[in-house]
Amino acid sequence: MTKGKGAMGFRKNGELNRRDFIKGTAAAVVLGAAWQPSLRALAVTGKTVSATTGEWIAGTCQGCTSWCSKQVFVVNGRAVKVRGNPHSKVNGPASCPRPHLALQQVYDPDRIKVPMKRSNPKKGRNEDPGFVPTTWDEALDTIADKIMDLRKNNETHKYLLMRGRYTYMRDILYDRMTKIIGSPNSISHSAICAEAEKFGPYYTEGYWDYRQYDVKNTRYLILWGADPVSSNRQVSYYSSVWGDVIDRAKITVVDPRLSATAAKADEWLPLKPGTDGALAAAIAHYLLVNGLWNREFVGDFKDGVNRFQPGATVNEEEFEERYTHGVVKWWNIELKDRTPEWAAAVTGLPWDQIKQVAGEYGESAPHCISWVGGGPVMQVRGGYTSMICHALNGLTGAVDNLGGTLESNKTYTRDFPEPDDFLDDTAKAGKKHEKIDQRGRLEFPCINKSPGKAVVTNNVADSLLNKDPYEIKVAIAYMNNFAFSCPQPERWEKALAMIPFLVHITTHASEFSWFADIVLPDTHHLFEKWGYVKSIGNGYRHVPLMQPVIKPMWQAKIDETEVPWLLSEKLAERGFDNPLRHFKEYKDPETGKEPTNEKEFALYAVKYATQELWDPSQYKGGDRFGGWEEFRKAGVWNSDPYSYRKSWGKMKTKTGKFEFYSDTLKAVLEEHAAKHGTTVDRVLEVCNYQARGEKAFVPHFEEPFTKGDPERFPFILVDHKSRLNREGRSANCLWYHEFKDVDPGDLRWSDVAKINPLDANTMHIGDGDRIRLVSPTGSLECTAKLWEGVRPGTIAKCYGQGHWAFGRLASQVFGKEPRGGNNNDLIPAEYERLSGSSVRHGFARIRVEKL
Ligand code: SF4
Repeated sequence: MTKGKGAMGFRKNGELNRRDFIKGTAAAVVLGAAWQPSLRALAVTGKTVSATTGEWIAGTCQGCTSWCSKQVFVVNGRAVKVRGNPHSKVNGPASCPRPHLALQQVYDPDRIKVPMKRSNPKKGRNEDPGFVPTTWDEALDTIADKIMDLRKNNETHKYLLMRGRYTYMRDILYDRMTKIIGSPNSISHSAICAEAEKFGPYYTEGYWDYRQYDVKNTRYLILWGADPVSSNRQVSYYSSVWGDVIDRAKITVVDPRLSATAAKADEWLPLKPGTDGALAAAIAHYLLVNGLWNREFVGDFKDGVNRFQPGATVNEEEFEERYTHGVVKWWNIELKDRTPEWAAAVTGLPWDQIKQVAGEYGESAPHCISWVGGGPVMQVRGGYTSMICHALNGLTGAVDNLGGTLESNKTYTRDFPEPDDFLDDTAKAGKKHEKIDQRGRLEFPCINKSPGKAVVTNNVADSLLNKDPYEIKVAIAYMNNFAFSCPQPERWEKALAMIPFLVHITTHASEFSWFADIVLPDTHHLFEKWGYVKSIGNGYRHVPLMQPVIKPMWQAKIDETEVPWLLSEKLAERGFDNPLRHFKEYKDPETGKEPTNEKEFALYAVKYATQELWDPSQYKGGDRFGGWEEFRKAGVWNSDPYSYRKSWGKMKTKTGKFEFYSDTLKAVLEEHAAKHGTTVDRVLEVCNYQARGEKAFVPHFEEPFTKGDPERFPFILVDHKSRLNREGRSANCLWYHEFKDVDPGDLRWSDVAKINPLDANTMHIGDGDRIRLVSPTGSLECTAKLWEGVRPGTIAKCYGQGHWAFGRLASQVFGKEPRGGNNNDLIPAEYERLSGSSVRHGFARIRVEKL
């Protein structure tokens, strides 16, 4: 479907043009009608007000993984407004709508206020935990006793640390403390987020991370399931510049759902879920056949005559590559038959539109972007989709290039001291056990750079249920909610009920806390904690600082610093002082003093890690500061600007080149196969991939893999994120529900399943009908919304509601009845096994029942 410029309600001759509209929707409309007048008044007169009653203090938002640097306006110790930090060269003064909701989070009366302990020993969804207040002292005594029991019994491997939203202080609790106790089990949430996104860039370009996109200099963008004005990294930055991008570049969005970005794009390609790889293959085919590849990056036929003809193999000897490796092999193995007509039949898109997009995209090279979001890749066979979509950036020479896809700028933060000297024999023995998530087994290659390195977060539930490789006796988790945020979460409910002693450190009680023995009140990242993060965008890397801009509410303490310090003191009282002695090494870089309490530790640790950014005697690059206090006030360090093409010819792949034939992937797949005494073909078979032989080493299309009988479950669920989602934690914010209709197709104070009217008519379902969505593994109830912005045969529903134990607003009846439905109840637990990622998209088949 092609959408002309000026569509979607723009006033063509009036004051409001496309750019204004996008900027408005991105930053202001969300809170506009009700709140803007007062907020604007504060902004305009901010200088005067700050001189008398308040001040702007720098902090960091972690409402999503953009990790923007912010400023908080604090009046009489109370945070009243949030805006972008103008000192940041990544997001600057820009802001997405979500930080405003953070104010409702920090002052939420439903926060955990004091430590709580369980009084009901029985655990289960229908068992009220009977939490009663306790003291920090008593809670930490109990936790320390449980850890000491493990150490006395040489069972330290039965200690588990689970991490949710983290800062870069993470290694203190997650890595150092876990190792010193003696466990291999530090489990992050990463694999339920978007790890497969990194798979393609790594096995072509040698870069394992999220990318930044040079949108200011680009001429064409293809967005694969990415919705940058809503949810796909650097939302504040992209929202602020998107109006200009629309004016200058052509934008194509590939997504079965009309996202906020698609609504303002030039082309919307609502393909069949899971067929992105076919479309990417056809685009690559078209670029080669029509001579649209970038010769400066890829090279050319020695005699300059293009031999890429549909269906014909090409002699590798006749092509001379420059900064890439294996383009002819790729053509011969995968691309030669992938015509636009073939892709049209697979994707359900018109062949002429595919050709048009491919042609315009290729003509924009190298200033064009193939932007891979989570949708196409967090699928069972998404690893190769990640590769083939990213490989387009190689063909067009857009990699590390002006107007293309960029890697990270250099930064100079430093690691915390190594813990090795504090690991005793008990710890060393405990650490040798297999990790609880089973990574590295034949069916879980989890090849983050090398086999068995990536986490398989959601599989921990099954490991716990089956006690395979062993049971867990003591677990600590922070700022996570796996009993809500993981696909098929009822497995987590059962698994958590089996852990004899579970501690949850969190700002809000949640479905996860429901199963805890002790719940500890956590600080809010934007307002109450010390820490720092790193992220990229706009051609810069910035390091935003977190600091307590207000006094922590009630008895909240910082999860990654204060809590481990206090716990280490309790362990030392019991004769195990290794963690405390290790933490005392985190000395204040300014005074050389070692910390003596949890507050000093939290501050010294962040000063230690960031010293090379703010200490003039250690200066290495980027912003210059006169010292800690100057850095603290600015609240962010910015790198030097991006240098294009630095990686050309020295990429971190086996060949040093951009690999269309991935020697890098071949080496790790062969390593994993050899470890299990089998073949790469067998590895791919147990991982549900179709490729065999040489195809395993090139970016290629794999047919979608779905769960459920198509006769009984005729629709595919399209799960998506909201512009207001602060991860899964917005549902107790009033503004989330009040402004929910900022998401195209959604409604205020409702949780809707968006159904194409063609499908709804065949089921006699009308707007507003109550319906039940049923998958092979679960069901939820919500409201039907007839909407043409979703491809027939798919049903789109926003993630974020369906909490049954999060707060009085998030749940209809706390602990009993959810408000709306949790998409994860519909999604069976399955994995993109090469990366360990949980599958969320293009997988769950569902049916609709009218209630
Ligand atoms: S929610 Fe995300 S994009 Fe918005 S300000 Fe926070 S970190 Fe930035």
